[in-house]
Amino acid sequence: MDTTRTELASLGEFGLINHINSRFSLQNPESIKGIGDDAAVIAQDATHYTLLSTDMLVEGVHFDLSYTPLPHLGFKAVAVNVSDIAAMYGIPKQIVIGLAVSNRFSVEAIDAFYEGVKAACDTFKVDLIGGDTTSSRSGLVISISVVGVTEHDKVVYRNTAKPTDIVCVTGDLGAAYLGLQVLEREKQVYMQDPSMQPELTGREYILQRQLRPSARMDIIHELREMGIVPTAMIDVSDGVASDILHICKQSNVGVALFEDKIPIDATAYDTAIELKLDPIVCALNGGEDYELLFTIQQSDYEKIKNHADISLIGYIQEAAKGNELVTKSGNRIALQAQGWTHF
Ligand code: ADP
Ligand code: MG
Repeated sequence: MDTTRTELASLGEFGLINHINSRFSLQNPESIKGIGDDAAVIAQDATHYTLLSTDMLVEGVHFDLSYTPLPHLGFKAVAVNVSDIAAMYGIPKQIVIGLAVSNRFSVEAIDAFYEGVKAACDTFKVDLIGGDTTSSRSGLVISISVVGVTEHDKVVYRNTAKPTDIVCVTGDLGAAYLGLQVLEREKQVYMQDPSMQPELTGREYILQRQLRPSARMDIIHELREMGIVPTAMIDVSDGVASDILHICKQSNVGVALFEDKIPIDATAYDTAIELKLDPIVCALNGGEDYELLFTIQQSDYEKIKNHADISLIGYIQEAAKGNELVTKSGNRIALQAQGWTHF
């Protein structure tokens, strides 16, 4: 018997997914795209594909109920799934929710969670069509799957970016990470002295980015109206550095990002300085922004250049040129992914 034991940490999250993927191949012609993108792609009819994605949130790993309002958690759990459909240039349609709950939850608490789910269903126009409920001995586990749809000629993968394409990102980056740092700091203060009131005023934006992020379906609708189909796209869940490197690796290209083009909100910037963190490092590696990171052809530049909520942050180059960050002083340094380590 083989008694080798390999630690999960030696593979990391992405290594583990590749390891699993290497043991499977697709058997059905209807399975157009399997493991490796934001959502799976399934044949639907002569013009449309079905998109399917799933995401799990685990208490103590992804959220801390001591400072997470349940309605926000319900909204976020749906939004992070919708975000993966958006990242395929898709429109979300249905969700199913699996819940493992401990008996320390009341009916009122479950109602509060579903209030947020409902708000998200209304915002993103998705229908809750099923799920599963079970008990948990170690905290709340939320597993949501989402079904969406897109056209055959409009599905956008991660592996189709081309040299000279322009790299775009929506909104701003790093705020959700900084919101989390503030919440964690205030929790520590409170645990040492429960009479202390948390100092959260003025930081509503970054707290909301952490606790109740949205999905950028507004941008997908706008891009569709502008007639822009990105050449590649991913949603920013692990941090823009890590996520652009997924596009580069899968597209077999390199990238140059400009430090001074990375969009950072003013409160997020000030909070980083106050916490003695580098705002750029937070923006590149923070994660949980749920913005859209995509590449477009040069010919679409005119259509997008004045969009108030889309930043053009760099360009795709030949793989041989590598993955670079062009600093404010003009130095080109290697772009590295710190992302999140799950194990
Ligand atoms: P995202 O951050 O967009 O949700 P992930 O990094 O979680 O994407 O997943 C990347 C790809 O790996 C997706 O295609 C996802 O479906 C697949 N995947 C993740 N975990 C597993 C698993 N345990 N078994 C099979 N496929 C997985
Ligand atoms: Mg994703």
